[in-house]
Amino acid sequence: MKVLKVPYAEKDEAKALGARWNPTRKSWYVPDGVAVEPFAKWLAGGAGSDAGAEPSSRDARAAKPVVGSKYVELAHACNPFEECAECKPKLIDSGWLDAHQAVRKLLAGL
Ligand SMILES: [Zn+2]
Repeated sequence: MKVLKVPYAEKDEAKALGARWNPTRKSWYVPDGVAVEPFAKWLAGGAGSDAGAEPSSRDARAAKPVVGSKYVELAHACNPFEECAECKPKLIDSGWLDAHQAVRKLLAGL
């Protein structure tokens, strides 16, 4: 089901194309199985314009991993809390180790 934003003046046009009225939501919608193309101009597109209709498919941010400035991707599946000969050069190159040691010093001084 696709919710539509149909201005009152265009409701008859939408109805003629097959849109249905949902009295609970007080909105027009395209029933399942009906092509949405003819209703394109009424489809709610902008972010937040129709909050709650399909939150899972709209929230693109939820799918993005959170990456900080000191994020380093390591292909090696080693213990992150132990030094690893294979990963250490990468961490030094990226500046991660410097940042890590700075944090350690900071914590040690507390
Ligand atoms: Zn490693």
